[in-house]
Amino acid sequence: MEERLNQGTGVTIPQLVTVRQLADLLRVSPIEIIKALISDGIMANINQTIDYETAAIVATEMGFEPQPEAPPPTETRPETAPTPTEPARKAIYAGEAEENMLPRPPVVTVMGHVDHGKTTLLDAIRQTNVAAGERGGITQHIGAYQVEKQGRKITFLDTPGHEAFTAMRARGAQVTDVAVLVVAADDGVMPQTKEAVDHARAAQVPIIVALNKIDKPEANPGKVKGQLKEIGLVIEELGGQVVSVPVSAKKGEGIDQLLEMILLSADLLELKANPQREAMGSVVEGRLDKTKGPLATLLVQNGTLSTGDYLVVGAQYGRVRAMFNDLGKRVKTAPPSTPVVVLGLPVVPAAGESFRVVADERTARGISEESARQKETTTRPATPLTLDELYSQMQAGKVKELRVVLKVDVQGSLEPLRNSLEKLGDENLRVRIIHQATGNVTESDVNLAIASQAVVIGFNVQADTTVRSLAEKDAVEIRLYDVIYRLVEDIEKALQGMLEPVYEEAVIGRAEIRKIFEVKRGKVAGAMVTSGVVKRNAPVRVKRGEEIIYQGQITSLKRFAENVQEVAAGFDCGLALGAFQDFREGDVVEVLEKQRVS
Ligand code: GDP
Repeated sequence: MEERLNQGTGVTIPQLVTVRQLADLLRVSPIEIIKALISDGIMANINQTIDYETAAIVATEMGFEPQPEAPPPTETRPETAPTPTEPARKAIYAGEAEENMLPRPPVVTVMGHVDHGKTTLLDAIRQTNVAAGERGGITQHIGAYQVEKQGRKITFLDTPGHEAFTAMRARGAQVTDVAVLVVAADDGVMPQTKEAVDHARAAQVPIIVALNKIDKPEANPGKVKGQLKEIGLVIEELGGQVVSVPVSAKKGEGIDQLLEMILLSADLLELKANPQREAMGSVVEGRLDKTKGPLATLLVQNGTLSTGDYLVVGAQYGRVRAMFNDLGKRVKTAPPSTPVVVLGLPVVPAAGESFRVVADERTARGISEESARQKETTTRPATPLTLDELYSQMQAGKVKELRVVLKVDVQGSLEPLRNSLEKLGDENLRVRIIHQATGNVTESDVNLAIASQAVVIGFNVQADTTVRSLAEKDAVEIRLYDVIYRLVEDIEKALQGMLEPVYEEAVIGRAEIRKIFEVKRGKVAGAMVTSGVVKRNAPVRVKRGEEIIYQGQITSLKRFAENVQEVAAGFDCGLALGAFQDFREGDVVEVLEKQRVS
C-alpha cells in the first residue's frame, strides 16, 4: 500500500524537524508519524522536534528514501536537541496488541525555577478540580493526585521539579507524559528554568509553559516569551509550536485553560494502556507508617492493580493487602495512570523503582530472589558509560553520539567550550551537549547523566563527595578539568575511539602457482603456499610480476582431493578462482583480509 506508493521516493529532511513538519514533508497525517514514532519507542507530540536520524527511520519505514538537508549555518539552533529514544517507557507497553490498548490519563510533572510557583500551582489545581464523585475525601499527600476535567482524568506528580523527575528516570522509571514548565512572568527565564527544559527534553517529554503570577503588576509575559525563545522554546504566538497558558496560581486563574491544554497534548500523544493485563508501573514514593508499616505510592502505568495481587518491587515482593487513593479512600482496583498507596510490602521501596504483578506467591518469590542474586553479582548497572568505555559501546552499536552534561565556572566559558566540543566528530558521531550550566556538579546533573547515558564534564568546577558517590554507584563518569585544551583533547580522543573503524585490505598469505591442471569444468592451479595462509572464499589478487592481472575470490581450495578451509605456508594446494582461468605458472596469488587499521 503506502509502502509501495512511496517506494524509492526521495525526500530531503532537515537536521531537526517537528513531527508536524515531517508529516507535511511525507504528505501523511501527523498521527501516522506519531504512531510510527511510538512503535519505535519514541513518545513525541505533534510539536516536538525530532532529529534527522529519527525522522529518517520513520520516512524509511514509510517507503521513502530520506536524505539529510545540509545543516544550517549555526544561527538559531536550539540549545539542545532531544535524545532519540526513551527505552524505559518503551518496555512498559512493549508487545501489547493494539486492540487491547485503551486511552489512559496523562501523567504530568510540574517543573520550573524555585519560587516561580510550582507548589502553589499544584495546590491550586488540586483544589479546583477534585475528581467528581469523590468530593468529601480528605486530600492526602501521597506523591501524586488525580483531577478531573471534562470528565477526563489527569494525574499530577506531587513532587515538583526536574530533580525528582530525573532522579526517577535515573532509576529507570519514566512516568511523565507532559511537563508543565512554570515560569514566573515577573521574573522570567532563570537557571533552573533552563535546567528543567533540558531535563524534559532529554526525556523527550513535551513541555507546556504556564506563565505564572500574571496577577502581578510587574508581570511581563511578552518578555518571558522572548527569553524562552532564546533557549529554544518557541511559543505559538512567536511562530513556534510550544503552548503557553497565562495563569495565576495564587488566584486560581487560568487553571482550567491549563488543564485543557494538557488534555489536548494527551490527545496528540494518544496515550494508551492495556487495563486488562496484570499491573506494572513505578514507585512514586514510599514511607514507613508507625501503625501501618511500609507504605508505597505506586503509579500504575499499564494494567490494573487489584487488592490481593502479588507484586514484585525490585528485589522485594509482597501482596496488596489494601489500597487507598489520593483522597484516602479505600479502593479495590487501580487502572492505568492511577496513583495508589499500597499496604503489604515488607519494606519501603525507593521512588523510581519499578513494580509488577505476578501470578502467585511462588513466582513473586522466585523473581525477587533472582533479582537479589543479580544485585549481588552485578556491581555495576547495565549501562555504565565512561569515556574509555564509549568505544566498545559504539562497536556494539549502542552509542552513536557522546552525550555531555557540561558544567563550567562562568558563563563566558560556555560558548567557547561548546563550540570546540561540537566541532569534534562527524555527522555520524558527534558530541551532543544535553545540558550546560554554570556551577558545581550537582546530583541532578549526575542523575541526568545516568538517565541519558551521558558523561559529566566540568571545567573549573567541583563535585562534592555526595555527588561523586552517586556517580560512582551508578558508574557515571565525572571528568573535571582546569585547562580547556586538555578537556577538548580528551573528548576528541574518545570520539576517535568512537569513530567507525577504518579497514584496509592486508595480505595474509601468498601462494605461487606451480602447475596448471585441466579438470572437467576448466582449470585449477596447483600452488605452493609460500607465506601466511590461504583461505577458501577469501578475496585474492593474482599478480604477474608487479602487475595485478585479476582480483576476485578463491572459490575452491583442496589438499589432495579434500576440500579444505585453509592451507598454511609450506604446503601445496589446488585452487580455483571462479571463472578466471587465465593464470600461468609463476603467477602469485595474494590472499587478502580486511583488517582494522584504526
Ligand atoms: P515553588 O518554589 O516554585 O514551589 O514556588 P511556590 O509555589 O512556593 O511559590 C513561591 C512564592 O510565589 C509564594 O510566596 C507564592 O505565594 C507566590 N506565588 C505563587 N504563585 C503566585 C501567583 O500566581 N501570583 C502571585 N502574586 N504570587 C504567587
